[in-house]
Amino acid sequence: MRLPVDADRLRSDIETNAAFGRVETDDPEAHGRTNRTGTEANRKARDYLVERLRDAGLDVAVDAVGNVAGRWVPNGADPDAAPVASGSHLDSVPDGGIFDGPLGVYAAVEAVRAIRDAGIEPDRPVLVSSFTEEEGSTFGDGLLGSSVATGETDAETALALENDAGETLADALSRIGYRGEGLLDPASWDCFFELHVEQDTVLESAGVDVGVVTTITGITHCVVEIMGEANHAGATAMDDRTDALAAASEFVLDVESAANDIVETDSETAVGTVGSLSVSPNATNVVPGCVACGVDVRDVTRGSMEEIVSAAHESLARLERNRGVETTLDRPFHVDPTGMSDRLRTVAHDAAADAGRSAIDLHSGAAHDAMRVAGATDAALLFAPSRDGVSHNPREWTDWGDCAAATEVLAGALAEMAGAAGATGAEAGST
Ligand SMILES: [Zn+2]
Repeated sequence: MRLPVDADRLRSDIETNAAFGRVETDDPEAHGRTNRTGTEANRKARDYLVERLRDAGLDVAVDAVGNVAGRWVPNGADPDAAPVASGSHLDSVPDGGIFDGPLGVYAAVEAVRAIRDAGIEPDRPVLVSSFTEEEGSTFGDGLLGSSVATGETDAETALALENDAGETLADALSRIGYRGEGLLDPASWDCFFELHVEQDTVLESAGVDVGVVTTITGITHCVVEIMGEANHAGATAMDDRTDALAAASEFVLDVESAANDIVETDSETAVGTVGSLSVSPNATNVVPGCVACGVDVRDVTRGSMEEIVSAAHESLARLERNRGVETTLDRPFHVDPTGMSDRLRTVAHDAAADAGRSAIDLHSGAAHDAMRVAGATDAALLFAPSRDGVSHNPREWTDWGDCAAATEVLAGALAEMAGAAGATGAEAGST
């Protein structure tokens, strides 16, 4: 069925939300937003969402970690039936964009309004969710609200996390009036859809309206330490050095070439990055004594990720032999690749076809709340095109027409999953 959405209403919501934490600039292409959990801007964004949910006829609940959920029980629906859910997040990275997160929240709100405006009364309740602290810019490592809701992280641990000022998440949420009770329970949902901006150029290059994500890549973080010997840069002869930074330089290139090898032979989606170096003592006139490297490895299959990590181990062993350094490799963070629900992907493709919108399959290189929810119930992740693939940046942009097109697909998929193909839905589908 085709469900027309109100593009202006959606735009107005995203633009209103963009003003909370707006970063002023002279660049007409920039639309910066800093919306960190527990700030005044964050409170205003949450207040506005609650208002919009209530205006659309949803009952609003806030859980113990500040996740916000609106619930619509259509006339004639079984209030106890497992709801169909959709949403994303409202927080941002510092000086981030206005679409990353809010598009998915307000597209879900607009989808509910579109279903109601079409006179459709689905069989199941529909739930709109906004998860706390997806970005991990202020408390923890990200995906916090969805991790607690799905039992990956316990609520006490999350609430005890502190921001830079030493304030706990519990206190920050209390201060802005968003420390609620209980927990959202995605395991009790029939399914979950998240619409997000792509943050890459696949859709833009292909000229396609909507991406249907097959797999969210797994992520491994390694912390590597390379220990040499700090010494006087003038008085230490070249053949008498154990230079940790020179060794680390080889390690950086080894990780890059290992990832390139996997891309050529095994899996073109694999990526490996040494994204951070901490050099000690980091002084121009001292031979570097110790370097800590942060390594990020991602792919859609676990096997190719392990191959890159193995190559990193081999590189370190070789550096120990050839350069006399000592090394350690710790792996403090790992999530496996997460497949999205085949059932929901089919529904999304059908909804796109019904709406006259083009859609292709792709993978997601970034983590999203849908990844956590997928551990609890069937989950799908849809992408709208990102101009030039730019994100986490004030120049992040998705055309308003593209936002509306993707929202139409989301609305159709939600209506289908909520059982709108019943009596009233069949009529709506024929118009
Ligand atoms: Zn996001």
